[in-house]
Amino acid sequence: MSRIMHVLGTEQPAIIAPLILADHPLGTISFTANWLSSADIPMATALADHISIALGHVRTQKKMEDSLERERLRNQVAEALASALDLSEVLERVISLAAEVTGADAGAIGLLDPDEETVRFPYIMGLPEELSLRPSSRGQGVIWQLIEERKTILQHEYREHPGAIPVWIEAGVHAFLGVPLIAGDDVIGGLGLFTLDTKRHFNQEAVEIAQAIASMSAIAIKNARLYTDATQRAEESQALIRTARSISALLDHETVLQMIAEQAKVLLEADGSRIHLIDPEKGVLRCLVALDPEAEALMEIELEFGQGITGYVAEHGIPVLQNDPLSDPRGYHVEGPLGFEPECLALAPLKVRQRTMGVMTVRRLGFNRPFTPSDLDLLTAFASQAAVAIENADLYSQIAAQAQRLEVEVADRTRELALSEAHYRALVETSLAGIVQIDTEGNFTYVNQAFGNLLEISAEELIGKPVTSYEGFIPEIHQLVLDLFHERIQNKRPAREVHDVELVTQSGRHIPAIVASSLIIDETGDPQGVTGLVFDISERKSLEAALRAERDRLDALLTNIGDAVMVTDPNGVIEYVNRSWERLNGFSAEEALGKTPRLIRSGHHSEDFYVEIWETITSGRTWRGEVVNARKDGTRYDAALTITPVLDESGKVINYVGVQHDISALKELDRIKSQFVSDVSHELRTPLTNIRLYLDLLGRSTEDPARVSRYLMTLSRESERLANLIDDLLSLSRLDAEAIPFKPTAVDINKLLAGLVEDRRNLASNRGLSLNLEADPSIPAIRGDERLITQVFTNLLTNAMNYTQDGGQIILRTGKKSSAEGEWVVAEVADSGLGIPPEEITMIFRRFFRGHASQVTASAGTGLGLAICKEIIDRHNGRITVESNGLPGHGSRFTVWLPFPKDI
Ligand code: ADP
Repeated sequence: MSRIMHVLGTEQPAIIAPLILADHPLGTISFTANWLSSADIPMATALADHISIALGHVRTQKKMEDSLERERLRNQVAEALASALDLSEVLERVISLAAEVTGADAGAIGLLDPDEETVRFPYIMGLPEELSLRPSSRGQGVIWQLIEERKTILQHEYREHPGAIPVWIEAGVHAFLGVPLIAGDDVIGGLGLFTLDTKRHFNQEAVEIAQAIASMSAIAIKNARLYTDATQRAEESQALIRTARSISALLDHETVLQMIAEQAKVLLEADGSRIHLIDPEKGVLRCLVALDPEAEALMEIELEFGQGITGYVAEHGIPVLQNDPLSDPRGYHVEGPLGFEPECLALAPLKVRQRTMGVMTVRRLGFNRPFTPSDLDLLTAFASQAAVAIENADLYSQIAAQAQRLEVEVADRTRELALSEAHYRALVETSLAGIVQIDTEGNFTYVNQAFGNLLEISAEELIGKPVTSYEGFIPEIHQLVLDLFHERIQNKRPAREVHDVELVTQSGRHIPAIVASSLIIDETGDPQGVTGLVFDISERKSLEAALRAERDRLDALLTNIGDAVMVTDPNGVIEYVNRSWERLNGFSAEEALGKTPRLIRSGHHSEDFYVEIWETITSGRTWRGEVVNARKDGTRYDAALTITPVLDESGKVINYVGVQHDISALKELDRIKSQFVSDVSHELRTPLTNIRLYLDLLGRSTEDPARVSRYLMTLSRESERLANLIDDLLSLSRLDAEAIPFKPTAVDINKLLAGLVEDRRNLASNRGLSLNLEADPSIPAIRGDERLITQVFTNLLTNAMNYTQDGGQIILRTGKKSSAEGEWVVAEVADSGLGIPPEEITMIFRRFFRGHASQVTASAGTGLGLAICKEIIDRHNGRITVESNGLPGHGSRFTVWLPFPKDI
């Protein structure tokens, strides 16, 4: 530094000398006096040097004092801070100390929020409290300059600073000293000191002291803050746990909601709280609890999903902090009492397992106490606890409702059970069947009146007694019944069984009965006893017997009846056929059952015919008529058929009964009769025509006696033929009508035949016929009508002579023969005549049959002789047979078999 000095000015000269100590300027000293001249400069210099040295001493002294003072202050600060951990206490000490040593009237500490967006003033000294409620957002106020620039600000006139806040100005802040609070590398806030007196400012020393305090206290403040935060968290957790516990212990839905709202309000130090729950059916949010002066109005509002901030939280399931809801575009504003009141809101979703069930909202009135992110965390944590409690309450109320329903149901069921028990008891007691119950020990536990009545004992007598003491079964089965009981109780028998038993009553009467026994098991399946149902079946037994007898009778009747009987079901399916039916149709019952009567259709009738039958019988009427049916072998037969529907009480057809009577024989008879009449007419007409003719001829030519005689001969022959025919016819019809008196006597066949031979001996010899009788003398006299037997052999002998050429042989033989049927007396007439062709053998006994031999010989027969023979022999229970090979000269042999007389 230059020490060149000049005398300045002329009227009032002055010398200004630098004060320099160890090359460092300390300042200047000026001398003014009228008399000063440049000569005085060295004096001034020397003086200045002195003063500088003196000042240097003073300064050193001051420095020492200052450093002592600072050390003292440091100690003070360290002491003050070391003993306190609570943030507000630390802050209070820091400010009061700083104010004291800097001479400030007021002070405040601004602390930066963790989000570094807001500065709050948790402690203010010497200024209105309200100021502490007004946080300062980023860039707002002098404090932000402090934080951002990390430099001390000394402002004599606070109001002149561009960052001055009006409320602080209004509070009377005059001079301002601001020091940043820096802990390590972080700015945590700022210390502000104020004078309220317009005359006082802060000097450099104050600045230094303030800086010293600030740097010393920053770490302490940070620590205290951390500590406070930690304590607050711990407290919040405690509160949360307490709250959660208290609400979880509650189960009534409404109480839980009310409690949650109250707790939330307390926990968040809020002025109001409300809970919105989602109505899952309507998809709206409804306010169920509102601890708010406007509760009623709030509770009336229904919010759509996504509507308002509440709707937003419900929709997205995330918490929202809104300290200025009026400016929030999501805000839902309503007219009326819920005006535009300044408020801060914190909203958290009520969530359980990712499912949002509603929204928990807390509000603080005004802007003074905005919610912090940690408030929101707290609310969110609380809300998640609350959600569980709400769900528990929901579940509980559901369970409670269910329990109540169950209770009602149990009551209902109990009532029903009692009723049903009463019904069963009534049933059991009034049952006609005997009912008994036996426990696993084999003791009667219940016996109803019917059982007692059945066995003529009092029911009470049996109850409690062991089954073994009971003598109601016939001795043969007593043990068997006991064994069955034991097996049953051990569950070794089917669950239910029915046995036929015979019971003995007290008076010794035997009663056939059936016992249905079943095991009583409990819900686990263990046997608890046995129930027996006892039915007296004596009445049924006798009914059954009567029915059986009736059925046997019917069976015998149907089996032995000559008519064929068939029974079908309403659809015409064959259910029964009797023996005669089988015989008639050639089908066995097995072949016929299950089939329909089509089985025996012959094809003779049209379909309409059967339709008519079906229509008649299905209308409940009986059908009668003749049908032509076919047997199994295809042969047809005529039958008189009657089909009768069998109706039940309601008139419904249950069966059809068809009765067939074989009328083939009748039909044949009819045919034979017609044939007979036509044959007779024909045979009668021939001789009559001849007689008429010859009578007529006789009338015309009576002159010629020879012709007359020939005519008369013919007339006589024809009339004889007519007479013979009529005789034969009469014989036959009498035989048919059994009009000929049958007078059996002992007939000596040998004698009878000998007479006949004798009568014809001349006739035979005239024709050169040998006629012999080879009689077996041992044969007994048979029993018969001699006249009729004579007629038989007369016919046979006449035929033999008629159909044997002259010179032939005729031999009559008698003898005995035996066959499968028994012993016979036989008499045969054998000739050596024309014989009978094989095809005629079966026909020669027919009426009016005249065969080959008759045509060859042109004999005047009637064709009735052999038919009469057969009728007569039949009447004698004999047989007539013929043998011939049909060769002329070999002849024929007729044998008459007559039963061997029994008692002759
Ligand atoms: P008729 O002798 O009047 O014709 P019959 O009833 O006595 O009637 O006999 C029936 C038929 O049997 C005869 O027409 C004849 O063809 C045959 N016939 C009966 N007897 C003999 C016989 N001995 N030899 C050959 N044919 C006989």
